[in-house]
Amino acid sequence: MVRLLKDESLAASWQRFFEENYKPGIETVAIEYPEKRSLYVDYWDIDRADPKLTEMLINQPYKAVFNAEEALKNVDVAAENKLKLHFRVVNIPDTNKIIIRKIRANHLGTFVAVEGLVKKRTEVRPKLQVGAFQCHKCGAVIRIEQEEDILKEPSECYEDQGGCGRVSSFKLLTNLSEFIDSQKIEIQENPEGLRGGAQPERISVYLEDDLVGEISPGDRIVANGMLRSMQRRRGQFRLTSFDKAMDAVSIESQEMAFEEVEVSEEDEKEILKMSKDPDIYTKMRESIAPTIYGMDVEKEALILQLFGGLAKEMPDGTRIRGDIHTLFVGDPGTAKSQMLAYMSKLAPRSIYASGKASTAAGLTAAAVRDDFGEGQWTLEAGALVLADMGVACIDEIDKMDEKDRSSLHQAMEQQEISIAKAGINATLKTRCAVLAAANPKLGRFDEFLPMHEQINMPPALISRFDLIFSILDKPNRARDTDLATHILRTHKAGEISENIIKSKMSKRTKKERDKLMEIVMPTFDPEFLRKYIAYAKRNIYPVMTDEALELIKSYYVDFRNSSEDTVTFTPRQLEAFVRLAEASAKLRLSQEVTVEDAKRSIGIIEQYLTRVGMDRETDKFDIDIITTGISHTQQSRMRSIIDIIQKLCDASEDGNADRNDIIREAEIDGVESGKVEDAVDRLRRNGQIYEPSHGKYRLSNM
Ligand code: ADP
Ligand code: MG
Repeated sequence: MVRLLKDESLAASWQRFFEENYKPGIETVAIEYPEKRSLYVDYWDIDRADPKLTEMLINQPYKAVFNAEEALKNVDVAAENKLKLHFRVVNIPDTNKIIIRKIRANHLGTFVAVEGLVKKRTEVRPKLQVGAFQCHKCGAVIRIEQEEDILKEPSECYEDQGGCGRVSSFKLLTNLSEFIDSQKIEIQENPEGLRGGAQPERISVYLEDDLVGEISPGDRIVANGMLRSMQRRRGQFRLTSFDKAMDAVSIESQEMAFEEVEVSEEDEKEILKMSKDPDIYTKMRESIAPTIYGMDVEKEALILQLFGGLAKEMPDGTRIRGDIHTLFVGDPGTAKSQMLAYMSKLAPRSIYASGKASTAAGLTAAAVRDDFGEGQWTLEAGALVLADMGVACIDEIDKMDEKDRSSLHQAMEQQEISIAKAGINATLKTRCAVLAAANPKLGRFDEFLPMHEQINMPPALISRFDLIFSILDKPNRARDTDLATHILRTHKAGEISENIIKSKMSKRTKKERDKLMEIVMPTFDPEFLRKYIAYAKRNIYPVMTDEALELIKSYYVDFRNSSEDTVTFTPRQLEAFVRLAEASAKLRLSQEVTVEDAKRSIGIIEQYLTRVGMDRETDKFDIDIITTGISHTQQSRMRSIIDIIQKLCDASEDGNADRNDIIREAEIDGVESGKVEDAVDRLRRNGQIYEPSHGKYRLSNM
């Protein structure tokens, strides 16, 4: 930090301010000194007491802060105990808050507040504050206060420090020097402020002493401090262009996502009124992406995803997630991407990312070594960390990296991600709902093939989703007509609107436009929807009624036992029922989860299971199709084929089972030859049997 010369009268003004306003504050810090060594001061306290000081702070911050810290040493409590306190001002007025992309040359050297999302942080490293240099000629030790990034050496062996006064060369003695902890973080603009598709801009922020180590990637913060320029270098050359950076004076963190949405008393009245509307579910659903035709069940699920279930902390320390994860799988051109883009704009703190991650951090987080860390390791946040407390919309999730595949499980289920690599040891929070879309490997979705054979995702990961919707694009005259009408009318409404606004010769009327626009007008505008959801998230914590609990329980038990040889649900689905039912209660602002909510949740899950979890041979739900990719029926068939192979091997002279014999034996047991061949191929592919010579098989463990 650049230190400027002391200004006696300025220091005196600060001292007066501290003595009159912050004596108790300083005493409190003194008790815990040196563990605590920062005095936090409200900007408005200073402004009220002496507006000249705040003016100075804004325009000449280095000088103001330096003198404030000097003055702090002289306040009696501090002087008696020889305290060296940091002056950390917070609550900077909005007029001095700037958006990262709007930082200009005239802001350099001033004090500003910058809001953003922490994308990266380096390791904490010591930084030289006072260097002790030994003179090669006389051996005297000269101390030099370091003010900038570049090491400053003595220009001569200063006599006033007991040196010989000659020009000399020096050796830095690290054990006699003073160091301070320092850390560099990178913050990027909040995605809410971004226009669709724009890349967020970033700024480096330097933290010192007790500010280090407190901040993690994914945190939403306000960094208050001085903007400065950093000269760029190319090799040994210094360039005339500069990078912008901030020396932080204080950091304020913003915890809750929906806290950021302000709900006035008037809003509250409107919200309470709407919550009593018997059509509230339909109205909410119709407010989601109205330009997208149909997809009613999906939209209903998405609105429930926004409300979410309840995260629960258990006495044993475990945490059960409340967030609902949804996956869309389907044919190309079925508005999956469009839906994700819409949701990412609607939900606060959401991030839209592609599985084909563009950054090293990918979807979760990574320790990387890049320019930012200047040779050191940097911890960088990926999409799920950045979307903490929001929604992570991940398009083309099937195209994600190998390393994301393994870390995504933990991030989705435990909602945190641990990184241990090269001195970086961190756990980052990923408390977000995931909304993902995947395209089938073969171009089109085949409802008769198991899910995991069609999308490039491991079944274990697929099963982490509470809801999986397959979206098929099959010709259907009635639906096609409606869809075409909807899309064409949307376009025409847009044309008329453009025509009215942009063309001087327009003969179109607003009435004509409004009539067409009707179908694409959301019942509730996004702003109101956000307020409504924020209100529900803050105030509504519904509890399951006994009736609702019974209903879900009996549905689950009945379903699991409806047929002997298929496994229909796993406990994972049971949790999905609960989350959806809780979300449904929150939507009505109900403090109770009722039978109605339980039924809604069952309805949605049934819908998705009919589409993706059906065993096409038996026409029954089978969760194994989703979790393992093989239906229960297929599994038991494969077991019986193994038995047959075993028997044939034992009976034969060469110890092999012949393909034709296997088929014949299985047919006697009533299995069609096609299915036997399919099972034999599967067994061979997954390594349970092998083929020592053509058409001959053996069990692998023999
Ligand atoms: P996907 O990601 O599923 O491949 P996109 O989201 O890119 O598909 O959609 C392709 C185009 O088709 C978009 O312009 C979208 O608006 C349009 N479209 C597809 N289905 C619908 C629908 N049901 N209603 C309105 N528009 C649709
Ligand atoms: Mg797409």
